[in-house]
Order: sequence, then C-alpha cells, then structure tokens
Amino acid sequence: MSNEIFGFTFDAQTIFIMIKTNKQIIIAIDGYSSSGKSTLAKEIAKILNYKYIDSGAMYRAVTLFAIRNKIINDKNQEVNEEKLQDSIDQIHINFKYNSEKKRQETYLNDENIEDEIREMNVSNNVSFISKVGFVRKKMVRFQQEMGSEKGIVMDGRDIGTVVFPNAELKIFMSAKAEVRAERRYLELKEMNVDVSYDEILENVKNRDHIDETRDESPLKKAHDSVELDNSNMNRQEQLDWIVGLVKSRIN
Ligand code: C5P
Repeated sequence: MSNEIFGFTFDAQTIFIMIKTNKQIIIAIDGYSSSGKSTLAKEIAKILNYKYIDSGAMYRAVTLFAIRNKIINDKNQEVNEEKLQDSIDQIHINFKYNSEKKRQETYLNDENIEDEIREMNVSNNVSFISKVGFVRKKMVRFQQEMGSEKGIVMDGRDIGTVVFPNAELKIFMSAKAEVRAERRYLELKEMNVDVSYDEILENVKNRDHIDETRDESPLKKAHDSVELDNSNMNRQEQLDWIVGLVKSRIN
C-alpha cells in the first residue's frame, strides 16, 4: 500500500518511520551548482520536519552587500578584501519563513533579499566572495550554530567536509552541466528573470571551476559521502533514494 505525503508517494512503513522517529540527525548535501541540492534538501527536511538551511544564500547575501557597497568590482570581480574585512561585522544574515509564498527567505540586515540574490549579477560574483577565508570562517561558524541541535538539512559545497564533518548522512550531488543549466534556466524563467540559457551554462561552469580550485574549503566529495548523479532522475526517484538512506541512518 502506498500513501501520499506532500505530493510524494511512499509506502506506509516508510511514512511511519519518517514521521514517528524522534532521532535528530544532520544531513549534509553538497555538490555542483544547480544540481538540485536545494530542491531535494527542502523536500526531505519537510518530510522529516527538520530545519532546512541554504548555505549558498549566505554567500550570496554577502556578495550582494559587497556589490552594493562597491567592495567587489562587478565588472572585473576584483575584491577589496581590506574593506570587506572592515565591514564584515555589519553583515547580519537570517532566514524567515514566508507562509504566503511557502518558502524560506533570506534577510540581509532585516531586508528581504531572497529574489535579488538569485539574479545573475550576484551569481556571477559570488564565487569570488566565497573564496575569501575570513568570509568562510564567519559563515561556517554561523552554520555550525544553526546545526548545534541537529535535526537539520543543509546544502552547499563544504557542508560534509568542513561545516559538519560528523554528519550522519552526507550526499554529494552532480549532473551534467547542460542538464543543470537547463533546470536553472527554467527556474529563473519562472521567476521572470531575463537571462539566456548560454549565459547560465557559462555561469554554472565558471562557478564549478572556481569552487573546485579555490584554496579555502574547495568543493569536493567527502570520503564518506554517498554520490547521486541525478541527470536522468525525477523528483520522486531522488526522494525515494534519499528516504532509503535516511531510514538506514535513523533506524
Ligand atoms: O548554492 P548556490 O549555488 O546558491 O551557491 C552560490 C555560491 O556560494 C557557490 O557557487 C559557491 O561559490 C558559494 N558556496 C560556498 N560554500 C557553500 C555554499 C555556497 O562556497 N557551502
């Protein structure tokens, strides 16, 4: 017998285990840009009634602050690290749930910046801000505080390697760059962002390259993570896959 939960279908035993368990674990989901990390992370967090944190949104928020305050030159991506260091304590990030839009939104110094941080200007600059060591230090500390009580799903690039090296479940997600760019393109079109597929493909490839080759906590697969290439998987298939892993960790 199968049952529906939040629009997905599971067998009764799975639903029982997922809902009745009190065990709080940490689920770290890392991977390439636009590989579907946040979609999967949000869905599994909802089913488990866990907190979901989008760590990429934090780096995007710092980047928006840096663009607005001319700390990064958004034409050549040059970062004024001294100015950034001087103003880092003025950057306060938090998340609030918007029940009307049914989504979690990112706030920078009490301003809702959820839509603005998804725009291409932020996407094109974020990898240059996220490679700055003291920015990472501040973000990682904040992320660790949010996960101190477990019961959390966090997605990013270094969650299983640096932020939560002891996470009970670590996933590493990938998919072909073209598939990822296509998905991102459709997402942004839905949000009425004016952007071309080619621009997104270039951005996705560039960010992957910078994120993988930076000195500070580069994007890499944790040795104890489970890999998921979702190029040919739909959402239910991905969710079934992660639910199977979660069951093995909470049982
Ligand atoms: O996840 P998202 O694509 O929104 O992340 C935006 C950027 O933030 C990444 O390309 C990467 O440079 C940076 N990032 C990071 N570490 C994380 C999450 C994101 O460096 N944990």
